[in-house]
Amino acid sequence: MNRLPSVDLLIRQPGLAALAGEHGHNLVVGAARAVLERHRSGGEAVPSLDMLAEQAAAEARGRTATALQRVYNLTGTVLHTNLGRAQLAEAAIDHAAMAMREACALEFDLATGGRGDRDTIVEGLICELTGAEAATVVNNNAAAVLLVLAALAGRREVVVSRGELVEIGGAFRVPDVMRAANVKLVEVGTTNRTHARDFEAAIGPKTAALMKVHASNYRIEGFTKAVAQSEVAAIAHAHGLPFIEDLGAGSLIDLVALGLPAEPVVRDCIAAGVDVVTFSGDKLLGGPQAGLIAGRKDLIAKIKKHPLKRALRVSKMTLGALEATLLAYRKPDLLTRDLPTYRLLTRPEGEIAALAERMAPLVGAALGTGWHVTVTPVGSQVGSGSLPEEVIASHAVCIAPAGKGSGKALAALADRLRALPVPVIGRVAGGSLLLDMRCLEDEAGFSAQLELLK
Ligand SMILES: *Cc1c(COP(=O)(O)O)cnc(C)c1O
Repeated sequence: MNRLPSVDLLIRQPGLAALAGEHGHNLVVGAARAVLERHRSGGEAVPSLDMLAEQAAAEARGRTATALQRVYNLTGTVLHTNLGRAQLAEAAIDHAAMAMREACALEFDLATGGRGDRDTIVEGLICELTGAEAATVVNNNAAAVLLVLAALAGRREVVVSRGELVEIGGAFRVPDVMRAANVKLVEVGTTNRTHARDFEAAIGPKTAALMKVHASNYRIEGFTKAVAQSEVAAIAHAHGLPFIEDLGAGSLIDLVALGLPAEPVVRDCIAAGVDVVTFSGDKLLGGPQAGLIAGRKDLIAKIKKHPLKRALRVSKMTLGALEATLLAYRKPDLLTRDLPTYRLLTRPEGEIAALAERMAPLVGAALGTGWHVTVTPVGSQVGSGSLPEEVIASHAVCIAPAGKGSGKALAALADRLRALPVPVIGRVAGGSLLLDMRCLEDEAGFSAQLELLK
């Protein structure tokens, strides 16, 4: 029976010595100690020195591995909140990297040599692309809504239609945000119908603003009535009140022109009389996580002066990535080439089908007998608050178990795919595991690691 070696002897084994060269002595010693400790308290037979060295090397590699891992998003949801939403444009990545690597004029006026305002880096572009007079940026859209409410309506009332008191994924609930902003919510209308007169009747001496919230991933159908933006704007302005809208995804361009489901366009909101609009940076905009606030100059000035603005401000990385993303919109005819979000959303169906046809036999060969692997038409989704039933035609590699007990087998297969070096995330539907090919751009990398399934 083997006896446990000393830490010293263990780390002198060739594999571990090489790892120490790469990651330093301390990390490898820590890993070796942990492995020896496990065997000391394990009570089982002690493995050979080679085996122990291998275990210590695995432990050392584990300690250098990152938790934030790249994955293949084959769920069919392009803007998948749990998988990081928008993939950024190369120009945005480069510009953010510059801001990280070098000193940069973040709050520095290069013309005068005096102090600058970080918002000015993107404010001009946001105004140009939305028609707003002024703009500011915070950490995400939830923060934008919180800040706008706190700054424009703190300790007073905001009127919202009952049909728009929605919960967006990730626990963003309009009534909760109102409470956190110290704003009293005044609900008007009913779940399915709200009229202009409901807004009129709710306005009193404590009213600070009228608000609309884009229902995003939810729709009320049938006997319904909502009040149009321009109508709410007219009522608000007749009473000297600001009209706020939380757009959620808020597109800068008309998606219908690209053959995609309609989403509200920020410029149209401003044109319809919305005084302050908020929207996300990493949804349809296709940029970094951020909350954009655009609107009337006096109101934006007030918002920027609120103490929460300092707490919610964005980093130089975000501003770098956002600036380069917004610049891409100055070349609208190249958006579907330069912004991954639009490239993936508008990927030609034939191209996706051909990719699925190439991948299906490789997946089938890797999985071996026990599975039927075919190509099937599916519907991809935009994601991130766009209507789930508005699907975009796509194609998937469809993996179905040949035998019975399919539920367990499918779950086990999904586990195996997630355990690959670049985890593959699909979706289970109708007794099959679907790998929607819309977002697979790294064909070579994906096929190369299929070997490991064998
Ligand atoms: C997504 C969404 C939010 C939250 O935006 P984040 O950028 O995720 O903070 C708020 N409101 C609406 C209507 C949304 O769709």
